[in-house]
Amino acid sequence: MENKIKEFELENEFLKIKVTNFGASMMSFVEKQSGIDIILGFEFTKDYFLYKQYYIGAIIGRCANRIQNGQFELNEKMIKVSQNENKHSLHGGVDGISTKIFDGYKKENMLIFTLLDEDKSNGYPGNLYLTVLYQLIKNTCKVTFCGISDQDTIFNITHHPYFNLNGVGNILNHEMKIETDQVAFVDEQYITSNISMNVKDTVFDFTKFNEIGKQMNKNHSNIQLTQGFDHNYIFENMLPKKMATLKTKKLCLEIYSDLPHLHVYSANFLKTNQYGKYAGICLECQYYPNAVHYKNRIQPILKAFHQQMHFIEYKVERN
Ligand code: BGC
Repeated sequence: MENKIKEFELENEFLKIKVTNFGASMMSFVEKQSGIDIILGFEFTKDYFLYKQYYIGAIIGRCANRIQNGQFELNEKMIKVSQNENKHSLHGGVDGISTKIFDGYKKENMLIFTLLDEDKSNGYPGNLYLTVLYQLIKNTCKVTFCGISDQDTIFNITHHPYFNLNGVGNILNHEMKIETDQVAFVDEQYITSNISMNVKDTVFDFTKFNEIGKQMNKNHSNIQLTQGFDHNYIFENMLPKKMATLKTKKLCLEIYSDLPHLHVYSANFLKTNQYGKYAGICLECQYYPNAVHYKNRIQPILKAFHQQMHFIEYKVERN
């Protein structure tokens, strides 16, 4: 494996990023004027392999988040996918897309990664041809996923960087704003339920800027269960939109996407040689977790020989 690993850099006046072809994972994301690397990352690709269960900076698929019992029905057929968290499937299974070695190359202001994820890989039907683009446009890093398959399949790809706008310490002093007032509950096994609530005046309320640590200290049984945020914020539309803003004294990060929901994970169980609990925060644009079991939600289905494309944009500004 080692000799197929390559690392790529892309830079403009404002930003500099580094990406490895292992899981097309983003290794660093530097705001150049402040010199701050705003994501958690390792110096060497081998550590991405070692700590792959944390999906640090990775491209995740074919299905982000959990699929209950690792099975679901598609076109009246029961599909069984790889179970890597008890009986459930998390982030694509044992060797999901985040562990695959992509082909990569650099062209103008873009890094381009391609992967053929074969039929039955982790149980998913269809040969999926996936392209991931990282693009720098002024002070924005745009990530685009494009998929085409020869059978109907699941296409719920997300990007999993852990942001920390200080570049050190933890994210408890970061302020966050989320552009929706609806959040979903999780059950004891961290499966997102189909039950949502209005966040008003609760620990989940980020309809205006609130400090993450302060919010987390407010009492709520669903936050105690997950030891921090591991919750899905509901937008339920595929329009390009601003989803969240993260801010510190120095920097501000805005997240835009056409994906229908935002999963917020405050690194509650992160444990590596360099990083621990709350060292970063993942703001994952994705389909509704476990959507294949909730027919009222937008379904992450890619039809055979149809192309599907989604984007996530990270816009970084100095305050
Ligand atoms: C999930 C967490 C999970 C973590 C694994 C996050 O995206 O929301 O529940 O523990 O990934 O690193």
